[in-house]
Amino acid sequence: MPNTLFDALFAPLAGRSSAFLILPDGSELSGDAFLRLVARQAHALRAAGLGVGDRIAVQIAKSPEALASYGAAVALGAIFLPLNTAYTADEVDYFLGNATPKIFLCDAAKRATLEPVATRHGATVLTLNADGSGTLSEAAANQPDTITPAERGPEDLAAFLYTSGTTGRSKGAMLTHRNLLSNAEVLVDLWRFTADDVLLHALPIFHTHGLFVASNISLLTGGTMIFLPGFDVETVLRLLPRATTMMGVPTFYTRLLDDPRFDRAAARHMRLFISGSAPLLAETHQQFESRTGHRILERYGMTETNMSTSNPYEGERRAGTVGFPLPGVELRILTPEGAPVAQGEVGVIEVRGPNVFKGYWQMPEKTREELREDGWFVTGDLGCRDADGYVVIVGRAKDLVISGGFNVYPKEVELLLDEVPGVLESAVIGLPHPDFGEAVFAVLVPQKGVTLDPDAALAAIRDKLARFKQPKAAVVLPDLPRNTMGKVQKNLLRDAYKTRFTG
Ligand code: ATP
Ligand code: MG
Repeated sequence: MPNTLFDALFAPLAGRSSAFLILPDGSELSGDAFLRLVARQAHALRAAGLGVGDRIAVQIAKSPEALASYGAAVALGAIFLPLNTAYTADEVDYFLGNATPKIFLCDAAKRATLEPVATRHGATVLTLNADGSGTLSEAAANQPDTITPAERGPEDLAAFLYTSGTTGRSKGAMLTHRNLLSNAEVLVDLWRFTADDVLLHALPIFHTHGLFVASNISLLTGGTMIFLPGFDVETVLRLLPRATTMMGVPTFYTRLLDDPRFDRAAARHMRLFISGSAPLLAETHQQFESRTGHRILERYGMTETNMSTSNPYEGERRAGTVGFPLPGVELRILTPEGAPVAQGEVGVIEVRGPNVFKGYWQMPEKTREELREDGWFVTGDLGCRDADGYVVIVGRAKDLVISGGFNVYPKEVELLLDEVPGVLESAVIGLPHPDFGEAVFAVLVPQKGVTLDPDAALAAIRDKLARFKQPKAAVVLPDLPRNTMGKVQKNLLRDAYKTRFTG
């Protein structure tokens, strides 16, 4: 029976004896062996009550079996709901209450804590551990190792993926088979992925980047993944000679650059390094190129749209930009009044195309606000186009500072601060101010071994900015708070310093 995603991604693994996954110890799992895992899990999940259109939530450590549970859910025509492994019992309580899945899959070590939560929301609990053991694996052991997938078409739901919660409570984005497949197809073409590619995969698989972008591309092309539980520099450097491509968040690249062993020779087999999920500093871009000869390809996307833009594979990969809309994807930048911005002017980015999700699960109002009837999705990101049409992400609309009635784009100030000698990076936020409504405030991170004087750093940029854009004060911190996807959590900074100008 046709099943859009299963037929494109998983069915072609049948009979494949070459490696689909390379594990941290260098051992390999063939495509065929992986598909058998998928089939056995699917039978076991069906026996546990999972069927077409049912939801399955998983909070499990990354492993081949964890990835197989995605395939098993797709095979059954169920809706896959991965949860961040860092979520606490309270957070899981919220997500299970919101999603009310039929099955909840967790690590055995968390079962005692999470079972009462899951049961309260009506879910049956099964376990799956990083080493592949668990009640699901036991139930799967004696099951047939082939499966006829349930019939599912392009418009059927395949997953609910919760957003990272950087700007507020995470929302469950409803994604269809077509959303996921169309994006993977376009990216394979654009980034020239083939069956010969070996992708170094150190990203989590509960997020769009690691699950849908990285894994779906490898599945679609019949490629191989070096499948690592996390980003550990030693393991990455040991296995990099077997890779041809890597996808990462900016912190992966800064951590590689921190290691003197990472050089031209270490990257000589590589064809492509891709970065996304958070802005890549221009400095990282330049250092990376001079150290390895490779220019990182930066792209932009989000849970609700998968990927939306990418720098070109051939042609200039421009630092500080996320390139152009993907083929088939429309992108527009609008003023607050809804008119297209002039070139270089900042506005809110909207995206439309086959990649755009179907709405937020159980949040009809939020869906109406952000997903227009004509298909345009209001991303909440601010951006502009440079003279050659490259899209520049300026930040989030929620991070815009309005000081004395004037808009201040934090990124403009951050870029100047980052240039000040001794400054590694910065975060500019707006804080409540009795006269101006909000005032600009800077958090500075010094380069290694440097003692930074915050006032001197502010003085150094004073001539370059209109007065209302100048930070009224600054502090120095050893690093910026980031979530597991490497995103700076400005809401935490705003909270920490909220009384700075009023208290
Ligand atoms: P929430 O929506 O719950 O607040 P989130 O937006 O961080 O969380 P994700 O969908 O994981 O959740 O992240 C998408 C966001 O990440 C984008 O909207 C954008 O702000 C940011 N982002 C992704 N890629 C880039 C990039 N290359 N440069 C700058 N920002 C990026
Ligand atoms: Mg978001």
